[in-house]
Amino acid sequence: MLDTTAYLSIKKTLPSEVTLVAVSKTKTVEDILTIYACGQRIFGENKVQEMCSKFETLPKDIEWHLIGHLQSNKVKYIAPFVSLIHAVDSFKLLEEINKQAQKNNRIIKCLLQVYIAEEESKFGLDYQEVEQLIYSKDFALLQNIEITGLMGMATNTDERKIVENEFTKLAQFYQKLKAAISLNNCNFTTLSMGMSNDYHIAIACGSNMIRVGSSIFGSR
Ligand SMILES: *Cc1c(COP(=O)(O)O)cnc(C)c1O
Repeated sequence: MLDTTAYLSIKKTLPSEVTLVAVSKTKTVEDILTIYACGQRIFGENKVQEMCSKFETLPKDIEWHLIGHLQSNKVKYIAPFVSLIHAVDSFKLLEEINKQAQKNNRIIKCLLQVYIAEEESKFGLDYQEVEQLIYSKDFALLQNIEITGLMGMATNTDERKIVENEFTKLAQFYQKLKAAISLNNCNFTTLSMGMSNDYHIAIACGSNMIRVGSSIFGSR
């Protein structure tokens, strides 16, 4: 059985305002149930199919967060139950989420993924693109989504300064938008940044949601 020591010690040291998403991708239903038995209710997955099959099998009071890249044609599978989509990176995707949310008669919470790392990546919006999207006329028409904040991933490096810089910039941008935006479909409450290797830094920089996988479940 999965050793829960690491999970319990992370939980114990976490400030109360920080929400822990236990990233269970590739991990078994048994391992998830072990962490569930410790009280954890929020789990993160990065693949649609895997999240759907785990949703079917596992207790219904689990909140499922999709943390990975999402393709528009797969939104329909998660729309009935997903509780937060972390990695929205285009208006087209947002439109599809809105459409599927409407079909399911619900509002789906989303975070915009901001590209903050040095590495080349296909995913995420830059700061300017986030503002363009949020302040566009078309965006204001989407009534079945709610943007609850931003998500970002720092450069994968041991150089603390680089990571700190990236997280700090994102946190400042988040605070700026939070103060400025007054749209019906935006309610900024959540800054999702920090994973196993860098969540301590992320919290120090203002994160209030961390996505931790390997430190809880072991390496993948
Ligand atoms: C896998 C993953 C995580 C968790 O990574 P760990 O290093 O195992 O904590 C966090 N966020 C995203 C987007 C991921 O894909």
